[in-house]
Amino acid sequence: MTLSNGREYLAIPGPSVMPDRVLRAMNRAAPNIYEGDLIDMVAAMIPDLRAVARTRHNAAIYIGNGHAAWEAALANVIAPGDTVLVPATGRFAHGWADMAHGLGVKTDIIDFGRSTPLDPARVEESLRSDTKGRIKAVLVTHVDTSTSIRNDVAGVRAAIDAAGHPALLMVDCIASLACDRFEMDAWGVDVMVAGSQKGLMVPPGLGFVFFSPKAAEARARMPRVSRYWDWTPRANPEHFYQYWGGTAPTHHLFGLREALTMLHEEGMEAVWARHAALARAIWAACETWGQEGPLTLNLTDRAYRSHAVTSLRIGPPHGTELRQWVSQKAGVTLGIGLGMAEPGDPAWHGFFRIGHMGHVNAHMVLGVLGAIDAGLKAIGVPHGPGALDAATAVIAEAA
Ligand SMILES: *Cc1c(COP(=O)(O)O)cnc(C)c1O
Repeated sequence: MTLSNGREYLAIPGPSVMPDRVLRAMNRAAPNIYEGDLIDMVAAMIPDLRAVARTRHNAAIYIGNGHAAWEAALANVIAPGDTVLVPATGRFAHGWADMAHGLGVKTDIIDFGRSTPLDPARVEESLRSDTKGRIKAVLVTHVDTSTSIRNDVAGVRAAIDAAGHPALLMVDCIASLACDRFEMDAWGVDVMVAGSQKGLMVPPGLGFVFFSPKAAEARARMPRVSRYWDWTPRANPEHFYQYWGGTAPTHHLFGLREALTMLHEEGMEAVWARHAALARAIWAACETWGQEGPLTLNLTDRAYRSHAVTSLRIGPPHGTELRQWVSQKAGVTLGIGLGMAEPGDPAWHGFFRIGHMGHVNAHMVLGVLGAIDAGLKAIGVPHGPGALDAATAVIAEAA
């Protein structure tokens, strides 16, 4: 039999669960894009968006996914033939580097593997040895969604400053924004990219690029930037269509407005604290399962674990078996292991991820953990007892 009939639950690291309030806000007729409510709403929304990014500076919005935001950010400040330094801790850092490569940019990659956070000292060393000033930017992935490593962005800023290097600090917060603490201005970040479908709880389709005055100066020095990617009119539009380089993404904007309202009602500190507590509950359960049997968290050091996603190893074929069991029998979809092994390699079936970004609360997380616990029993994977007790103890204490 199956016990999956009921509300399906998506626990993958993006797209994330959409709040009913966001869905209701989007359920409306097409609005006028030339005058009226939409235009007023957007003008008032930009400051709220900046507040989530913790910046006083510029915000540009693109109709596109995270990959579009990656390209947009690069296209404004990095010219073909320039070099970027990429400390990599998983698949997404390599993805952004590959995007740069496609634009004719040289990429110096420092590969930290899949289970070690980046070391700012190695970044500093590379910058110090760049005596000709070839490196135009350091590309950091705050949370790498494949490995669930959260990197020390402020540490990279300190490394750039210690080396006395003029490189821009560019950060991918697509997985982490509104989940893990991120302080764009306080941490000296020049460019930050984000997407709508993770911590921001809106369907995929909006990409965001936030940029500092220093990044705006770098943009001004570019020999040329394509009209579509140019962030200048998007961040300072004279006409409404210039925000989007064309027709506005109307319904996404109503969804985003509602999501930002929800984040502001809760408060960013409370949003971060909620994600931190729920992450600790998940880790407590996973560490308890791991006391017997093959399940382990990808990252040992809690200080570098993301609060938005958790990557796990369980050995092939149990990752795939477990995902299938919880989906078919319990109505919960877990994330595949991404970038941990090549698809086609039997090892690929030994990983899975739990997404816990955005619209998640204690009962949602406990439901996922309960489904996994049942799945481990059903498929016969040995595991330590008491994982749910460990998780509920964390939640009882945190709340
Ligand atoms: C999801 C994600 C991306 C890619 O976003 P898309 O919307 O799939 O293009 C890039 N970086 C990180 C860290 C992500 O989590």
